[in-house]
Amino acid sequence: MSENACPLCSTEETEFFARCTDHLLKTTDKMFSLRECRACGIIYLAPIPSAEELRAYYPSGYWWSESSRARNFLSAVGKRLESLYRRMALRDHIRFVLGAARHVSEEGETVDLLDVGCSGGTLLHELSHRGISGRGLDFSEEAVAHATRVYQLDCSVGDLTQNPWQQHRFSLLTCFHVLEHVPEPRAFLKAMAAALVERGRIVLQVPNIRSWQCRLFGSQWYGLDPPRHLVNFSDRALIRLLQEAGFDVIRKKRFSLRDDAAGWVSSAFPRLDPLARAVRKTSKERPAGEPAALGIFKNFVYFVLLLAATPVALCDSLAGRGATIMLEARRSSKPTTPHN
Ligand SMILES: [Zn+2]
Repeated sequence: MSENACPLCSTEETEFFARCTDHLLKTTDKMFSLRECRACGIIYLAPIPSAEELRAYYPSGYWWSESSRARNFLSAVGKRLESLYRRMALRDHIRFVLGAARHVSEEGETVDLLDVGCSGGTLLHELSHRGISGRGLDFSEEAVAHATRVYQLDCSVGDLTQNPWQQHRFSLLTCFHVLEHVPEPRAFLKAMAAALVERGRIVLQVPNIRSWQCRLFGSQWYGLDPPRHLVNFSDRALIRLLQEAGFDVIRKKRFSLRDDAAGWVSSAFPRLDPLARAVRKTSKERPAGEPAALGIFKNFVYFVLLLAATPVALCDSLAGRGATIMLEARRSSKPTTPHN
């Protein structure tokens, strides 16, 4: 198989999509190729870098933490406002997870949740306030240390094939913005199915390459985030892959309060993106970071732009061309296909 072949369906009949570099976090100047597979409907990085190379593209601070130390009063106020906004925006995700948890209970199972890619533990922490205690997995030691120390969560460094709960079967797995970072999504979804009880459920979210944002911004679209996103899905491609991995899709959500408007703003103004600024503030360009007042001003502008972009994002979603896809799927009782 050549390096241009589709990593999902192995066809060689793929098309060039774009040349790009890490324009968001600037971890490298290396140029990458994105290709589009017309057969299965994905956009992927070709070739997919080695695991060792990929590690260099995840800088310290890649995950967001509300407890990062504020340098002075202004910076503390800014952090507080950012934290309030993030909690508010996360409610959408929480409502969706609570719906899946209710479905698990209705089938007579105890809600036993694992957040795959738990980052600093914010989602698990918020869920714990709503009566759901879950465990978390992440590949970042820094993120897991934060989740454990600050929120006293039961989290571990690892992935679905290497973790302390190998023999355990969960009834609910959440996996937000992880699948696009995985070099072998089919194997990853099968590992998720294997980690579930019979008829257990998953909640999954990825960027949507059929979105208007993707078509308008191309390789500059926030949702493609090269070189960290390796395989990017359309909703049709994702649903087909889920079915192949042994899942029945139950519910689909086309609008994400946290992600869709942010996709518009961060694609159009990547230098205002809060994560990119947090990661790049320790760069050689500006070793002391940006002044607190400038940081607050940029956050304010970003927030105003978010408000302005929200109705646009709602329209995208209503037209079925929203920036993200959120799904609930149930482990099927049917056998999986013999792929891989
Ligand atoms: Zn393909």
